[in-house]
Amino acid sequence: MSSQRHGLALLRTNDWLEELFDTIWANHFSDVERVNEVTIEFSRHWKTRLGLIRMSESQAHTYVGINGLLRHPDVPEFVVMLTAAHELCHYAHGFGSPLPQRYPHPHAGNVVGRELERRGLGHLVDDYDAWVSDYWHDFYERHVGRVGSPARSKASAHTRAAAAAPARR
Ligand SMILES: [Zn+2]
Repeated sequence: MSSQRHGLALLRTNDWLEELFDTIWANHFSDVERVNEVTIEFSRHWKTRLGLIRMSESQAHTYVGINGLLRHPDVPEFVVMLTAAHELCHYAHGFGSPLPQRYPHPHAGNVVGRELERRGLGHLVDDYDAWVSDYWHDFYERHVGRVGSPARSKASAHTRAAAAAPARR
């Protein structure tokens, strides 16, 4: 891929992520009012979650965190996009936002999936699910410890070996 230069992958930046987020909001969620200050950034390298949304106690601020490993250009852009859109569905539903809470639970009855569908993003869901189930585990194992994840000294030797010869599990 042309993302390799001098052997280093060009990682996506927070500026890039903010722009993507604003574009998704404008194109698919324009009816959802931005009622507080919302920031989005690449966050920690969680093993089992790609994104999260939280609101400060004062409700003045909403924080959207996207798994820091999604900075890597080998992760398809639609994965980053759908992760951000997923969190935006929560915002629209009143989870992690001051908007009225529309459901008893953020994932009750596939409300996010139905919201994505309704907003013209449903066609990405199957590919997203397939990418996560086919590639995420190996991707995580291969990259964690290499792009500044919290120290896991025992894991890093293993990860480096795995990167040299990617192994299927
Ligand atoms: Zn969710």
